[in-house]
Amino acid sequence: MATVTIQDIKTFVTAPKGINLVVVKIETSTPGLVGWGCATFTWRCKAVVVAIDEYLKPMLLGRNVANIEDIWQSAMGSSYWRNGPVLNNALSGVDEALWDIKGKMAGMPLYDLFGGKCREGIAVYRHADGSCYEEVDDQIRAYLQEGYRYVRVHMGTYGGNMYGENNSQMHRPEGCPAGAYYDPHGYMRSVVKLFEHVRGEFGWELELLHDIHERLSLADTLTFAKEMEPFKLFFLEDALPPEQMDYFRYLREQTGVPLAMGELFTNPAEWRTAVQNQWIDFMRVHISDIGGLTPARKLAAFCDSYGVRTAFHGPSDLSPIGMTAQMHLDLAIPNFGIQEFSEFDEKEREVFPGCPVCRDGYVYLSDKPGIGVEMDEAAAKKYPYTETDFGWLFSRLKDGTAVRP
Ligand code: MG
Repeated sequence: MATVTIQDIKTFVTAPKGINLVVVKIETSTPGLVGWGCATFTWRCKAVVVAIDEYLKPMLLGRNVANIEDIWQSAMGSSYWRNGPVLNNALSGVDEALWDIKGKMAGMPLYDLFGGKCREGIAVYRHADGSCYEEVDDQIRAYLQEGYRYVRVHMGTYGGNMYGENNSQMHRPEGCPAGAYYDPHGYMRSVVKLFEHVRGEFGWELELLHDIHERLSLADTLTFAKEMEPFKLFFLEDALPPEQMDYFRYLREQTGVPLAMGELFTNPAEWRTAVQNQWIDFMRVHISDIGGLTPARKLAAFCDSYGVRTAFHGPSDLSPIGMTAQMHLDLAIPNFGIQEFSEFDEKEREVFPGCPVCRDGYVYLSDKPGIGVEMDEAAAKKYPYTETDFGWLFSRLKDGTAVRP
């Protein structure tokens, strides 16, 4: 077989849902053979574009598209300092595009290249939220009617009261700056009551999830995890920040709540000890933030050895190409747990032809070779880069102390 080489690498920013997505296209020496990948780090999207256009592209032009592992390893080392989200996302765009090309050359969807299907459909969960019980209930009811069986339940977004009435009632010092304020103990009390309500309203068949979003102190998160035990969660997410991974030992020793962790991971050092010690139950990495499908396949296999299942991050700040790429892994790995999912809207389907379909709570992939989703460049231009609202990232405790979002 003749060697196929990388002829061009193009980077695009498009925002069909109002969220900037970074997409990479690799053109090859074979006319018409191209690959697509997701490099979306929406909060620093311009930096990722520079990393690809100015650094990865000059290094990779002319390389053999077959050698994905060699390209990944050499590109990861190419800035000496590594494992940061900008380089990882840039690398993911290239990596996923190369896997897309390999699938197209093989005439196989990626899940076939990865060993074939372990299941026919991908179970997904949706997010329910609202400013009061009625709004949360309505959202859950709508999801149930659409066939979903797993729902992440919140009220007032992360921290429980960012936009709710508690915000104005909060006892704050004079002159405190603007921000997304929350009260950790108020949040803990409100979530326990919310879950009492939801279990009373919807019973026990529905699988419930909740995301602490690293908003509690060490001792409070342990107390909260114990308080949530009666509601039999599918999992409790991001109980702590990645910087405090050692404390998962105490959570594991003192509570039976299934623990999901990892959407903020960018470095293998952050997950290795927690997986080896089986401190967590679900691995939640955002695949482009760890460098794409090449490291994600290894991570999934590593987790499988320790009985840890996957629950890859799947919000709207992920292009449909990246979402579908990780869904090929979801289909092909034995230790799949659940997939977070925000349904593709009409504009996303216009820009990204081939988006998978969701029916009755399961997502189904096509059998097209490669990832199976491409970007319509003309349609993408209709939804150009948009200025980002960073407001929710400026979280503060009620005394005005800035904390992680
Ligand atoms: Mg989360």
